Amino acid sequence: MDYRKKLIVEPGTKIKLRDIDPAFHGKHATHEAALTDLQKEVARLTQLQYLLYAEKKHALLIVLQGIDAAGKDGTCWHVLTAMNPQGTTVTGFKQPSEEERAHDFLWRINRHTPALGQVGVFNRSHYEDVLVVRVHKLVPREVWSRRYTQINDFETRLVDHGTTIIKFFLYISPEEQLERFRQRLEDPHRQWKISDADYKERAYWDQYIAAYEDMLQKCSTSYAPWYVIPSNHKWFRNLAVSRIIADTLEDLGMKMPKPTVDLETIRQQYHAAATTASI
Ligand code: AMP
Ligand code: MG
Repeated sequence: MDYRKKLIVEPGTKIKLRDIDPAFHGKHATHEAALTDLQKEVARLTQLQYLLYAEKKHALLIVLQGIDAAGKDGTCWHVLTAMNPQGTTVTGFKQPSEEERAHDFLWRINRHTPALGQVGVFNRSHYEDVLVVRVHKLVPREVWSRRYTQINDFETRLVDHGTTIIKFFLYISPEEQLERFRQRLEDPHRQWKISDADYKERAYWDQYIAAYEDMLQKCSTSYAPWYVIPSNHKWFRNLAVSRIIADTLEDLGMKMPKPTVDLETIRQQYHAAATTASI
């Protein structure tokens, strides 16, 4: 299935998240059934990232947003297992520091955008400045409401430089979030993830949904589209995200760069070295 077509937020359209099923899982019924496809997508990503790194004509920026426990960390992990760490960076955006708050909201983001040849993953992003900031009224409406255009302008600039931007909103149901909070409580390996804010934020669910819907509507563009990823099933989330990235990279038509040296000369040097070595 072409998940780009199915899961894209068509630019300019209004989206109602309640019309989307967060438990959607495509044609596979279980993780086991999806394994072959998952491995296939990982292999494609590996090849494509190698090409992106070698060619150095494009950068790839992947933006991950989602409510607490939606799976941002797990998605980073999955996508990056396919890639050579030399060509990738992950940046997590937390509450801004005093220095960051003293600058405009894009200042801290801009310094982490990927260079040509590189893949950058944002675990949270500049979109927090129209999400948590809006829901908790951290700045007045006149300020956050102007940011959608500012974000689109910023992303245009990155695209003009050769950056491909793919944005994923990981969508889970409130029931699934509660189930994941339960698992965190019970599993000593996950307890470190629990935060004081988890249940406080949950009380703002509807306000967050309204803020997500506005973000998706105003900032899904032809050059930097948003995808809504049904994420109740982690394996489906991983499958959809990796396929969308691989399909997008494939469309770039990247090619192995030509050698920068004269191969015939190098071949002669090799033969000379090999002959000497065998004496
Ligand atoms: P976590 O991703 O669970 O480590 O939490 C990071 C926290 O930082 C979340 O509660 C975010 O909402 C918050 N955060 C990220 N960016 C901003 C921002 N620009 N302004 C305020 N809070 C933010
Ligand atoms: Mg958290």
